[in-house]
Amino acid sequence: MDAIAPSTAEYRDRTEDYLVLESFFSRRRRALGPLATLAAEVAGLTETVSGFIQEHTATVCTACAKVCCINRHSYHETADIIYLCALGEKLPAYDKAVADTEPCQFLGERGCAIRRSLRPYRCNWYFCTPLLEHMQSASAREYRRFMGLMTELGRKREALLDIYGEAEKEQSSLLL
Ligand code: SF4
Ligand code: SF4
Repeated sequence: MDAIAPSTAEYRDRTEDYLVLESFFSRRRRALGPLATLAAEVAGLTETVSGFIQEHTATVCTACAKVCCINRHSYHETADIIYLCALGEKLPAYDKAVADTEPCQFLGERGCAIRRSLRPYRCNWYFCTPLLEHMQSASAREYRRFMGLMTELGRKREALLDIYGEAEKEQSSLLL
């Protein structure tokens, strides 16, 4: 596997990394099979929590004076790309003409145009204080269920990334 070029920029277009990873996945589809199962579970859990999140963003975010969806947040991190490849999904095409500080290129009149399970992970985990407080105003049972699902989702994603890390190490040792 080609090395992914290190960069200090946290938020940036990683399309080149995606192409390297996509090729790695397509060559090792069978060995990386368990990742597809985990990725599908993560996607399912993400879509399950989507309704609860949406219910609250629909009230809080529509009245927000300083929307957090700026373009620099639109870029998927390497871990997000590993998950997308495991899921058999593609990285969105980024419009490089949009500046980092402009509204996110995927933000439309009806919110984010990317399905929740395919968004950068940070987008699904960011809850500002007013949004979090609004969520906590739900019944204790509902909120506990939501947090439980988010925790499970996070654990499965970690497991997916660990298995990927092992596969990458194995591949590197074969190339030595
Ligand atoms: S999450 Fe918070 S900061 Fe972001 S748009 Fe909603 S209310 Fe505004
Ligand atoms: S949630 Fe969607 S619109 Fe908002 S920053 Fe993330 S990708 Fe952009």
